[in-house]
This record gives sequence, C-alpha cells and structure tokens, in this order.
Amino acid sequence: MQELIDTQKIYDVIIVGAGPAGISASIYASRSGLRVALIEKGLYGGTLHDTLEVENYVSYDSISGEELAEKMEKHVEKQENIDHIYGNVGKLSKIGDVFEVNIEDTVVLGKSVVIATGVKYKKMNIELEDWYQGKGISNCAVCDMGFFKDDHVAVIGGGDSAVESALYASNIAKKVTLIHRRNKLRADEISQLKLFSLENVEIIWDAETVGFLGELDYLTGLKYIDKQSGDVKEINVDGAFVNIGVVPVTEPFSDWKILDDEGYVLTNSRMETSVDGLYAIGDVRSESIRQIVNATADGAMVSESVNKYLSRV
Ligand code: NAP
Repeated sequence: MQELIDTQKIYDVIIVGAGPAGISASIYASRSGLRVALIEKGLYGGTLHDTLEVENYVSYDSISGEELAEKMEKHVEKQENIDHIYGNVGKLSKIGDVFEVNIEDTVVLGKSVVIATGVKYKKMNIELEDWYQGKGISNCAVCDMGFFKDDHVAVIGGGDSAVESALYASNIAKKVTLIHRRNKLRADEISQLKLFSLENVEIIWDAETVGFLGELDYLTGLKYIDKQSGDVKEINVDGAFVNIGVVPVTEPFSDWKILDDEGYVLTNSRMETSVDGLYAIGDVRSESIRQIVNATADGAMVSESVNKYLSRV
C-alpha cells in the first residue's frame, strides 16, 4: 500500500486518516481530478474493524465491519491520483498557502488538509487499568473475545459499544457481567432488548468501577462502588472490556485553535475550520453523530469545499 513520498510534490489535498470519512473524501476528491495524498497509520476502515455487524448502513441490511472496511479499501485503491502513505502524523504547519504535514522524519506538502483522524477509546484512569491493558483488559470484544472462550468477562459501559460487546461476548464466554454506572442504558432499544433476553448476561446497575484486581500478569477481577449502598464490592472475572466512549485523535492539531473543549474539531456545515484550507470530517468533527453514513457524507461535502477553495487560491 505504501508508496514513496515525493517531497517535491504539492498535493491538492492531504487527507489524514483512512476511515470511512477519509476514504470517501479521497474517492470524491480524486474523481474530481485533485491530486490526493491519503495518510493512514493503521488499517483502512479504522474502527470499522472493531465492529461486529453493521446493520444501519444503507444498501447492506447486515455486513461485518471487517468486510465493509475491506470493500471501502478496495474501492479507494481503484482510484487514480491518490498516493497512499503509511505513517503517523506528528505535526501540522503552514507556510504561506502551503501546509506541511510531518510524518516521522519526512514532510508531505499540500494546498489543503482534511483531518479525518477519528476517535480512540476513552480510558477509565483507575487502579491497575494500565497494567492489565492487554493482559485481560481490552477495548475491543471483536478483536480479543476469542481469548475468553467459556470464561467470565465483564463489560463496562452503557452505550452502543458496551452493549454490542456484551452481545458478542455472550456467544463466546460462559458468563458476561455488564457493569453500568447508572440504572439506564443509552444503547439503542433493539440491542438493549436482545441483551435483556440473554440468560448468560447479568447487569450490575448503579456501579462505579474503581479498580482492577489481579495476580502478577493475570487479571482476576475488578472492584466497584455500589452506589445504592456505598459499599465497595468485588467480582471475579477473567477478562474486562472497557467501552466507556471515545475521545478524538487531534493531538497533532492542538496548536491550531480549531478544537472544542473536548478536543473535537470545530467546523461549519461545509466542513471548513476557521483556518483557510483546513477541514475536518467524520467522527473527529465536533457535533458529528458518529455514524458511518455521516462520515461518508462528510467526505463528499469536503471534496466540494476543497474544490471551491482551490479555485480561489
Ligand atoms: P457513548 O455512547 O458515549 O457511551 C459511553 C458509555 O460509557 C455511557 O453509558 C456512559 O455512561 C459510560 N461511561 C462514560 N464514562 C464512564 C466512566 N468514566 N466510567 C464508567 N462509565 C462511563 O460511547 P460508545 O458506546 O462508545 O459509542 C460512541 C458513539 O458511537 C455513539 O454515538 C454510539 O451511538 C456510536 N456507536 C454506534 C454503534 C451502532 O450504531 N451500531 C455501535 C457502537 C457505537 P452514562 O450513560 O452514564 O453517560
């Protein structure tokens, strides 16, 4: 996938991130004749790889996240005018009208930049979380549930991700305990009903998880405060999936005064930030409702905006 970076070339648009938003933007931009650099540090499709089934993306009543990601990757690979660059973006700067995107020890130049870096898992920041991450704690049931066949696992959180993880886990683990800090889930109703119907799933409501327990390199359980009684309680589990939401991946852009209080990029409906030639799309955008269909729509819109901008400068 990686191609040699031509440091003399000034791309019309540099798209940072090859999730659904970045892929869609690349397809639209290349088809409008722009020279595109698409930069990615991981897998094309981004968090689609962590999604078991997608059942709300128009034209597929059900498709695995993995398969949809592969289809998107193949689609963007077919386009002309796109250089695919593998690397971790460190810093963004602008000299005159030209943006410089630093990737490790090299620089990619562009007349415009689209931030499509998405989100990453939020941490709980509690006792032993860092130590047992990857040694019993995971954020991705689809990726790691295979390690816990016939075990007892906990899932922490009450949103779509947590409920999806618990549903997935229930097919593999002997027992699943969902631990939620309130007495109501925020996941969609259909998934909630599925969850409530499962015999090997228990839910501990009003429980604030405060730490993990283990023996050397093995997670053995977790402790939580029962908010009704105030008691600290412990349960034994072999694995724990932390699904308490996401945070934006915007460290490289933190100097640009384009972020809201939570670190998401502020844009208008044309995907423009307050900086000429700098755009954001998809999950990283403030006010995004974080759905695949919105991410891909943002990609179409930003291509239009970039084209208009380039015709002016
Ligand atoms: P989310 O919707 O923000 O839910 C996070 C959950 O974690 C909430 O229940 C929250 O509790 C809880 N939480 C937050 N901080 C916590 C902490 N420090 N300790 C304990 N619990 C904590 O996040 P998400 O489930 O990852 O979903 C993110 C976005 O992706 C959402 O827009 C979601 O709809 C979307 N998504 C969609 C699908 C789908 O359509 N199939 C699948 C996955 C995700 P409270 O409820 O008390 O705030």
